[in-house]
Amino acid sequence: MTLIEHGVPLARLTTIGTGGPAAALARPKTLEDLTEALRFAESEELEVVVVGLGSNMLAADEGVDALVLRLEGELAAVETSAQFLSAGGGATNAVCLHRARDAGLGGFEFACAIPGTAGGGVRMNAGAYGRDWSEVLVRALVVTVDDDAWLTAEELGLEYRHSSLSSSQVVARVEYRLEPRSPSDIRETVAELVGRRKATQPTNKRTFGSVFKNPVGDVGAGQLLEQCGLKGHRIGGAVISPKHANFIENAGGATTADCVALMVEARRRALDECGVVLEREVALVGAVDLPPLT
Ligand SMILES: Cc1cc2nc3c(=O)[nH]c(=O)nc-3n(C[C@H](O)[C@H](O)[C@H](O)COP(=O)(O)OP(=O)(O)OC[C@H]3O[C@@H](n4cnc5c(N)ncnc54)[C@H](O)[C@@H]3O)c2cc1C
Repeated sequence: MTLIEHGVPLARLTTIGTGGPAAALARPKTLEDLTEALRFAESEELEVVVVGLGSNMLAADEGVDALVLRLEGELAAVETSAQFLSAGGGATNAVCLHRARDAGLGGFEFACAIPGTAGGGVRMNAGAYGRDWSEVLVRALVVTVDDDAWLTAEELGLEYRHSSLSSSQVVARVEYRLEPRSPSDIRETVAELVGRRKATQPTNKRTFGSVFKNPVGDVGAGQLLEQCGLKGHRIGGAVISPKHANFIENAGGATTADCVALMVEARRRALDECGVVLEREVALVGAVDLPPLT
Protein backbone atom coordinates (compact mmCIF):
# COMPACT_ATOMS: atom_id res chain seq x y z
CA MET A 1 0.00 0.00 0.00
CA THR A 2 1.37 3.44 -0.97
CA LEU A 3 2.23 5.42 2.15
CA ILE A 4 -0.32 8.12 2.90
CA GLU A 5 1.02 11.17 4.72
CA HIS A 6 -1.33 13.51 6.56
CA GLY A 7 -1.11 17.26 7.17
CA VAL A 8 1.81 18.03 4.84
CA PRO A 9 1.69 21.80 4.19
CA LEU A 10 1.25 22.62 0.51
CA ALA A 11 3.51 25.61 1.13
CA ARG A 12 6.32 23.03 0.88
CA LEU A 13 5.12 21.82 -2.51
CA THR A 14 4.43 25.13 -4.28
CA THR A 15 7.00 27.53 -5.71
CA ILE A 16 5.26 30.58 -4.18
CA GLY A 17 5.51 28.87 -0.78
CA THR A 18 1.89 29.30 0.35
CA GLY A 19 -0.87 26.82 1.13
CA GLY A 20 -2.11 24.93 4.18
CA PRO A 21 -2.01 21.19 4.95
CA ALA A 22 -3.22 18.46 2.62
CA ALA A 23 -5.72 16.05 4.19
CA ALA A 24 -3.70 13.26 2.57
CA LEU A 25 -0.61 13.05 0.38
CA ALA A 26 0.68 10.07 -1.60
CA ARG A 27 3.80 9.73 -3.73
CA PRO A 28 3.00 6.92 -6.19
CA LYS A 29 6.03 5.49 -7.99
CA THR A 30 4.32 3.06 -10.38
CA LEU A 31 1.02 2.83 -12.27
CA GLU A 32 -0.14 0.25 -9.72
CA ASP A 33 0.65 2.65 -6.84
CA LEU A 34 -1.24 5.36 -8.67
CA THR A 35 -4.35 3.23 -9.18
CA GLU A 36 -4.21 2.18 -5.55
CA ALA A 37 -3.98 5.80 -4.41
CA LEU A 38 -6.92 6.77 -6.64
CA ARG A 39 -8.97 3.91 -5.15
CA PHE A 40 -8.05 5.16 -1.66
CA ALA A 41 -9.31 8.65 -2.58
CA GLU A 42 -12.54 7.17 -3.90
CA SER A 43 -13.12 5.09 -0.79
CA GLU A 44 -12.41 8.08 1.48
CA GLU A 45 -14.53 10.36 -0.77
CA LEU A 46 -11.55 12.67 -1.23
CA GLU A 47 -11.03 14.84 -4.28
CA VAL A 48 -7.72 14.24 -6.10
CA VAL A 49 -5.21 17.02 -6.74
CA VAL A 50 -1.96 16.30 -8.58
CA VAL A 51 0.93 18.58 -7.72
CA GLY A 52 3.85 18.73 -10.10
CA LEU A 53 6.36 21.35 -9.02
CA GLY A 54 3.50 23.54 -7.82
CA SER A 55 4.85 26.21 -10.14
CA ASN A 56 1.48 27.52 -11.28
CA MET A 57 -0.59 26.78 -8.22
CA LEU A 58 -2.18 28.68 -5.33
CA ALA A 59 -3.53 26.46 -2.56
CA ALA A 60 -5.94 27.52 0.18
CA ASP A 61 -4.32 28.76 3.40
CA GLU A 62 -6.78 26.67 5.42
CA GLY A 63 -5.55 23.53 3.70
CA VAL A 64 -6.96 21.22 1.09
CA ASP A 65 -9.47 18.49 1.82
CA ALA A 66 -8.11 16.20 -0.90
CA LEU A 67 -5.66 13.45 -1.69
CA VAL A 68 -2.66 15.29 -3.10
CA LEU A 69 -0.51 13.21 -5.47
CA ARG A 70 3.16 13.74 -6.30
CA LEU A 71 4.34 11.42 -9.06
CA GLU A 72 7.78 9.93 -8.42
CA GLY A 73 9.91 6.88 -9.37
CA GLU A 74 8.81 5.32 -12.69
CA LEU A 75 6.16 8.01 -12.91
CA ALA A 76 8.93 10.62 -13.13
CA ALA A 77 11.38 8.62 -15.27
CA VAL A 78 12.57 9.82 -18.70
CA GLU A 79 13.63 7.75 -21.72
CA THR A 80 14.59 8.63 -25.27
CA SER A 81 14.38 6.57 -28.45
CA ALA A 82 14.86 7.66 -32.05
CA GLN A 83 12.96 10.97 -32.25
CA PHE A 84 10.81 10.40 -29.18
CA LEU A 85 11.14 11.36 -25.55
CA SER A 86 8.94 9.56 -23.05
CA ALA A 87 8.54 11.21 -19.65
CA GLY A 88 6.66 10.21 -16.52
CA GLY A 89 4.02 12.78 -15.62
CA GLY A 90 6.16 13.84 -12.65
CA ALA A 91 9.39 14.30 -14.67
CA THR A 92 10.66 17.86 -14.49
CA ASN A 93 11.06 19.86 -17.67
CA ALA A 94 14.70 20.46 -16.70
CA VAL A 95 15.44 16.71 -16.67
CA CYS A 96 13.53 16.20 -19.95
CA LEU A 97 15.49 18.97 -21.59
CA HIS A 98 18.83 17.56 -20.36
CA ARG A 99 17.95 14.09 -21.61
CA ALA A 100 16.77 15.46 -24.97
CA ARG A 101 19.98 17.45 -25.34
CA ASP A 102 22.16 14.47 -24.48
CA ALA A 103 20.28 12.39 -27.06
CA GLY A 104 20.70 15.13 -29.69
CA LEU A 105 16.97 15.90 -29.79
CA GLY A 106 15.81 19.49 -30.22
CA GLY A 107 12.43 21.18 -30.12
CA PHE A 108 11.93 21.25 -26.35
CA GLU A 109 14.25 24.23 -25.74
CA PHE A 110 11.25 26.54 -25.32
CA ALA A 111 10.54 24.79 -21.99
CA CYS A 112 13.92 25.69 -20.48
CA ALA A 113 12.43 28.47 -18.36
CA ILE A 114 9.21 26.68 -17.42
CA PRO A 115 9.91 25.16 -14.00
CA GLY A 116 7.22 22.47 -14.07
CA THR A 117 6.67 18.81 -14.89
CA ALA A 118 5.55 16.94 -17.99
CA GLY A 119 2.07 16.38 -16.49
CA GLY A 120 1.70 19.98 -15.36
CA GLY A 121 2.76 21.07 -18.85
CA VAL A 122 -0.02 19.00 -20.41
CA ARG A 123 -2.68 20.17 -17.96
CA MET A 124 -1.76 23.85 -18.51
CA ASN A 125 -0.64 23.46 -22.13
CA ALA A 126 2.40 25.39 -20.95
CA GLY A 127 4.39 27.34 -23.47
CA ALA A 128 6.90 30.08 -24.16
CA TYR A 129 8.52 31.86 -27.10
CA GLY A 130 5.60 31.04 -29.40
CA ARG A 131 5.62 27.28 -28.76
CA ASP A 132 3.64 25.10 -26.38
CA TRP A 133 3.05 21.48 -25.33
CA SER A 134 0.52 20.88 -28.09
CA GLU A 135 3.29 21.23 -30.68
CA VAL A 136 5.62 18.58 -29.25
CA LEU A 137 3.20 16.18 -27.57
CA VAL A 138 2.34 12.98 -29.42
CA ARG A 139 0.13 11.51 -26.73
CA ALA A 140 -0.34 11.37 -22.96
CA LEU A 141 -1.36 8.48 -20.74
CA VAL A 142 -4.30 9.73 -18.68
CA VAL A 143 -5.26 7.65 -15.66
CA THR A 144 -8.48 7.75 -13.63
CA VAL A 145 -9.76 5.43 -10.93
CA ASP A 146 -11.73 3.51 -13.57
CA ASP A 147 -9.42 3.28 -16.57
CA ASP A 148 -6.44 4.65 -18.46
CA ALA A 149 -6.13 5.87 -22.02
CA TRP A 150 -3.57 7.40 -24.34
CA LEU A 151 -4.92 10.75 -25.58
CA THR A 152 -3.62 12.95 -28.41
CA ALA A 153 -3.19 16.73 -28.18
CA GLU A 154 -6.55 17.14 -29.88
CA GLU A 155 -8.26 14.73 -27.49
CA LEU A 156 -6.70 16.58 -24.56
CA GLY A 157 -8.30 19.81 -25.81
CA LEU A 158 -5.01 21.73 -25.69
CA GLU A 159 -5.50 25.45 -26.25
CA TYR A 160 -3.70 28.56 -25.01
CA ARG A 161 -2.81 27.66 -21.36
CA HIS A 162 -5.76 25.27 -21.21
CA SER A 163 -6.62 21.58 -21.51
CA SER A 164 -9.91 19.78 -21.06
CA LEU A 165 -8.49 17.60 -18.25
CA SER A 166 -10.36 17.53 -14.95
CA SER A 167 -8.70 17.15 -11.55
CA SER A 168 -9.57 13.44 -11.37
CA GLN A 169 -7.52 12.75 -14.52
CA VAL A 170 -3.85 12.13 -13.84
CA VAL A 171 -1.26 12.47 -16.60
CA ALA A 172 1.02 9.53 -15.85
CA ARG A 173 3.23 9.59 -18.96
CA VAL A 174 3.85 11.93 -21.85
CA GLU A 175 5.40 11.17 -25.24
CA TYR A 176 7.04 13.99 -27.16
CA ARG A 177 8.18 13.96 -30.78
CA LEU A 178 11.40 15.95 -31.17
CA GLU A 179 13.84 16.46 -34.01
CA PRO A 180 17.57 15.80 -34.42
CA ARG A 181 19.66 18.76 -33.26
CA SER A 182 23.23 19.00 -32.04
CA PRO A 183 23.70 19.28 -28.25
CA SER A 184 25.84 22.40 -28.74
CA ASP A 185 23.10 24.15 -30.74
CA ILE A 186 20.58 23.20 -28.06
CA ARG A 187 22.88 24.53 -25.34
CA GLU A 188 23.31 27.80 -27.21
CA THR A 189 19.56 28.32 -27.68
CA VAL A 190 18.87 27.51 -24.04
CA ALA A 191 21.54 29.95 -22.82
CA GLU A 192 20.04 32.68 -24.98
CA LEU A 193 16.46 32.01 -23.82
CA VAL A 194 17.47 31.79 -20.14
CA GLY A 195 19.37 35.08 -20.49
CA ARG A 196 16.26 36.75 -21.92
CA ARG A 197 14.18 35.43 -19.02
CA LYS A 198 16.56 36.67 -16.36
CA ALA A 199 16.50 40.13 -17.90
CA THR A 200 12.72 40.44 -17.87
CA GLN A 201 11.28 38.20 -15.13
CA PRO A 202 11.87 37.76 -11.38
CA THR A 203 13.51 34.35 -11.81
CA ASN A 204 15.31 34.56 -8.44
CA LYS A 205 12.14 35.18 -6.40
CA ARG A 206 9.38 32.88 -5.14
CA THR A 207 6.52 33.25 -7.64
CA PHE A 208 3.97 31.05 -9.40
CA GLY A 209 4.66 32.20 -12.95
CA SER A 210 2.05 34.13 -14.86
CA VAL A 211 -0.89 35.31 -12.77
CA PHE A 212 -3.18 36.06 -15.73
CA LYS A 213 -3.38 34.86 -19.32
CA ASN A 214 -2.42 37.38 -21.95
CA PRO A 215 -5.57 39.08 -23.26
CA VAL A 216 -6.35 39.05 -26.98
CA GLY A 217 -4.44 41.87 -28.69
CA ASP A 218 -0.92 43.20 -28.71
CA VAL A 219 -0.63 44.27 -25.07
CA GLY A 220 0.37 41.46 -22.69
CA ALA A 221 -1.07 41.13 -19.17
CA GLY A 222 2.24 42.30 -17.66
CA GLN A 223 2.40 45.45 -19.77
CA LEU A 224 -1.25 46.22 -19.03
CA LEU A 225 -0.78 45.90 -15.27
CA GLU A 226 2.38 47.98 -15.50
CA GLN A 227 0.36 50.71 -17.25
CA CYS A 228 -2.05 50.58 -14.29
CA GLY A 229 0.87 51.44 -12.02
CA LEU A 230 0.75 48.15 -10.18
CA LYS A 231 4.44 47.23 -10.14
CA GLY A 232 5.54 47.02 -6.51
CA HIS A 233 1.95 47.10 -5.17
CA ARG A 234 1.95 45.11 -1.94
CA ILE A 235 -0.68 43.37 0.17
CA GLY A 236 0.57 41.56 3.28
CA GLY A 237 3.61 39.53 2.27
CA ALA A 238 2.77 39.44 -1.46
CA VAL A 239 3.96 42.03 -3.94
CA ILE A 240 3.38 42.58 -7.65
CA SER A 241 6.84 42.07 -9.06
CA PRO A 242 8.70 45.32 -9.69
CA LYS A 243 10.38 43.45 -12.58
CA HIS A 244 7.29 42.03 -14.36
CA ALA A 245 3.76 43.04 -13.36
CA ASN A 246 2.18 39.67 -14.30
CA PHE A 247 4.15 37.97 -11.51
CA ILE A 248 3.43 38.03 -7.77
CA GLU A 249 6.42 37.59 -5.48
CA ASN A 250 6.41 36.17 -1.98
CA ALA A 251 8.30 38.98 -0.27
CA GLY A 252 8.27 37.07 3.03
CA GLY A 253 5.38 35.52 4.91
CA ALA A 254 2.92 35.81 2.02
CA THR A 255 -0.34 33.88 2.20
CA THR A 256 -2.57 32.69 -0.60
CA ALA A 257 -5.14 35.22 0.64
CA ASP A 258 -2.56 38.02 0.09
CA CYS A 259 -1.95 36.78 -3.47
CA VAL A 260 -5.67 36.55 -4.21
CA ALA A 261 -6.25 40.06 -2.81
CA LEU A 262 -3.58 41.36 -5.20
CA MET A 263 -5.24 39.49 -8.07
CA VAL A 264 -8.62 41.05 -7.22
CA GLU A 265 -7.08 44.53 -7.20
CA ALA A 266 -5.16 43.90 -10.44
CA ARG A 267 -8.28 42.66 -12.27
CA ARG A 268 -10.33 45.62 -11.03
CA ARG A 269 -7.70 48.15 -12.15
CA ALA A 270 -7.25 46.47 -15.55
CA LEU A 271 -11.01 46.72 -16.13
CA ASP A 272 -11.51 50.24 -14.74
CA GLU A 273 -8.42 51.78 -16.31
CA CYS A 274 -7.98 49.79 -19.55
CA GLY A 275 -11.39 48.15 -20.10
CA VAL A 276 -9.80 44.68 -20.18
CA VAL A 277 -11.12 41.62 -18.34
CA LEU A 278 -8.12 39.55 -17.26
CA GLU A 279 -8.53 35.79 -17.02
CA ARG A 280 -6.68 33.85 -14.36
CA GLU A 281 -3.89 31.48 -15.47
CA VAL A 282 -2.77 30.11 -12.08
CA ALA A 283 -4.54 26.95 -10.84
CA LEU A 284 -6.51 27.43 -7.60
CA VAL A 285 -6.66 24.48 -5.23
CA GLY A 286 -9.03 24.01 -2.29
CA ALA A 287 -11.48 26.60 -0.99
CA VAL A 288 -9.88 29.55 -2.74
CA ASP A 289 -11.61 31.56 -5.41
CA LEU A 290 -11.24 34.73 -7.39
CA PRO A 291 -14.55 36.56 -6.94
CA PRO A 292 -16.24 37.66 -10.18
CA LEU A 293 -15.70 41.26 -11.28
CA THR A 294 -18.62 43.48 -10.25
C1 LIG B 1 9.47 31.49 -12.67
C2 LIG B 1 8.35 30.83 -13.42
C3 LIG B 1 8.28 30.96 -14.80
C4 LIG B 1 7.23 30.36 -15.50
N1 LIG B 1 7.18 30.50 -16.86
C5 LIG B 1 6.19 29.91 -17.55
C6 LIG B 1 6.13 30.03 -18.99
O1 LIG B 1 6.96 30.64 -19.64
N2 LIG B 1 5.11 29.42 -19.63
C7 LIG B 1 4.16 28.71 -18.97
O2 LIG B 1 3.25 28.15 -19.62
N3 LIG B 1 4.19 28.58 -17.63
C8 LIG B 1 5.18 29.15 -16.90
N4 LIG B 1 5.21 29.04 -15.55
C9 LIG B 1 4.11 28.32 -14.86
C10 LIG B 1 4.34 26.82 -14.66
O3 LIG B 1 5.72 26.53 -14.58
C11 LIG B 1 3.68 25.99 -15.76
O4 LIG B 1 2.29 26.20 -15.82
C12 LIG B 1 3.95 24.50 -15.55
O5 LIG B 1 3.55 23.77 -16.66
C13 LIG B 1 3.22 23.96 -14.30
O6 LIG B 1 3.73 22.66 -14.07
P1 LIG B 1 3.75 22.02 -12.64
O7 LIG B 1 4.18 20.63 -12.81
O8 LIG B 1 4.53 22.84 -11.68
O9 LIG B 1 2.21 22.07 -12.29
P2 LIG B 1 1.55 22.53 -10.92
O10 LIG B 1 1.76 23.99 -10.74
O11 LIG B 1 1.95 21.62 -9.85
O12 LIG B 1 0.01 22.30 -11.28
C14 LIG B 1 -0.65 23.09 -12.24
C15 LIG B 1 -1.95 22.37 -12.64
O13 LIG B 1 -1.61 21.17 -13.31
C16 LIG B 1 -2.17 20.05 -12.63
N5 LIG B 1 -1.20 18.94 -12.73
C17 LIG B 1 0.10 18.92 -12.38
N6 LIG B 1 0.64 17.73 -12.67
C18 LIG B 1 -0.34 16.97 -13.21
C19 LIG B 1 -0.40 15.64 -13.70
N7 LIG B 1 0.65 14.82 -13.70
N8 LIG B 1 -1.60 15.20 -14.16
C20 LIG B 1 -2.70 15.99 -14.17
N9 LIG B 1 -2.69 17.27 -13.73
C21 LIG B 1 -1.52 17.75 -13.26
C22 LIG B 1 -2.38 20.52 -11.20
O14 LIG B 1 -3.36 19.77 -10.53
C23 LIG B 1 -2.80 21.97 -11.44
O15 LIG B 1 -4.15 22.03 -11.84
C24 LIG B 1 6.25 29.62 -14.81
C25 LIG B 1 6.33 29.47 -13.41
C26 LIG B 1 7.37 30.06 -12.72
C27 LIG B 1 7.43 29.89 -11.23
